[in-house]
Amino acid sequence: MATLEQKLDKYAALAVHTGVNIQPGQTLVVNAPLEAAVLVRKIAKKAYEAGAKHVYVEWNDEDLTYIKYKHAPDEAFSEYPLWRAQGMEQLAQEGAAFLSIYSPNPDLLKDVDPKRIATFAKTSSEALRNYRSALMADQNCWSIISVPTPAWAKKIFPHLSEQEAIDKLWDVIFTVTRVHEEDPIQAWEEHNERLAKMVEHLNGKQYKQLIYEAPGTNLTIELVENHVWHGGAAISQGGVRFNPNIPTEEVFTMPHKDGVNGTVRNTKPLNYGGNLIDGFTLTFKDGKVVEFTAETGYETLKHLLDTDEGARHLGEVALVPHRSPISQSNLIFYNTLFDENAACHLALGKAYPTNIEDGATMTKEELAARGVNDSLIHEDFMIGSAELNIDGVTKDGKREPIFRNGNWAFTL
Ligand code: ZN
Ligand code: ZN
Repeated sequence: MATLEQKLDKYAALAVHTGVNIQPGQTLVVNAPLEAAVLVRKIAKKAYEAGAKHVYVEWNDEDLTYIKYKHAPDEAFSEYPLWRAQGMEQLAQEGAAFLSIYSPNPDLLKDVDPKRIATFAKTSSEALRNYRSALMADQNCWSIISVPTPAWAKKIFPHLSEQEAIDKLWDVIFTVTRVHEEDPIQAWEEHNERLAKMVEHLNGKQYKQLIYEAPGTNLTIELVENHVWHGGAAISQGGVRFNPNIPTEEVFTMPHKDGVNGTVRNTKPLNYGGNLIDGFTLTFKDGKVVEFTAETGYETLKHLLDTDEGARHLGEVALVPHRSPISQSNLIFYNTLFDENAACHLALGKAYPTNIEDGATMTKEELAARGVNDSLIHEDFMIGSAELNIDGVTKDGKREPIFRNGNWAFTL
């Protein structure tokens, strides 16, 4: 049996090579919680061994975040440090790779005024707009992974002791990220190949519409013309292959921002900036959310939808079979990186320009004219279940099954 130490070594290697795929002479920027220190040191060592020039680490601490939300004055949330925004932009321009270790406590800000959270989310999105746009267009290699933190692990496994919960969560993470396999990097090559086959099939189909049916859901989504499906590995503008998400099980493409009609109900809670939204429905007319309900987090959802015009329109449609390994764990992770890869999902807000042919080189106006949504936010929410059926409508109006009872209706 491999020790935790050995598994962390494999996980670090996977993040550096399969995740951001660091190249000789490149700078690696890591954003990480203090709890990830042991892993981050291993990542830095592997990155230097692969030829990285600099490894910069931006540490974050949720206790400090909470202290700020509770004690700082209101105006602190409508200002963002310019030096940081410009620094991130400069690093992106210089071709750095970006690795985020994302392990939020879903309940961190539950007694904080949602207005403060919404204000700061908007402030930081505006300040970091260019940096985020560069990453969403795959200008740079980027990747997201997670590590257990006590608060997050206890949220998933409330009946276990803190240490047991952390051990259990590591075990789940190592399983779904394939670190438990003999050669995780090779296992990811094979996984990427399987996803690429599905992507190729769907790109050939060029469906005009997707029709979703499930309890509480009756939704028609028009896809943009010349949409491109992606899944698994991506290729940066510099031609380097990388994996934006570890784990990942989705294939995804672009809805037309004005072509969504009907109602959709979520199937897993959404953790938005430290606040949970659950039991919610969104009703769309010509692409726009015109009505919404929520059993939990109504105010948070309202703030999210009111961020800007594009926050009420869709920017992503993603397909994930219900029998995916993450879904089979039968856990709710309260962490979008995991939950989005356990269920079909949609995203409110900005679309990935890479999901339309030549999108990465189009101007803002050209993108808008093609139906590409823009927003300060990009927020995934989960709608998949064992009861979800999806049909595709071909250009000549033929209706074909894509999903039946939560899983692919065909095999390749
Ligand atoms: Zn997605
Ligand atoms: Zn997304």
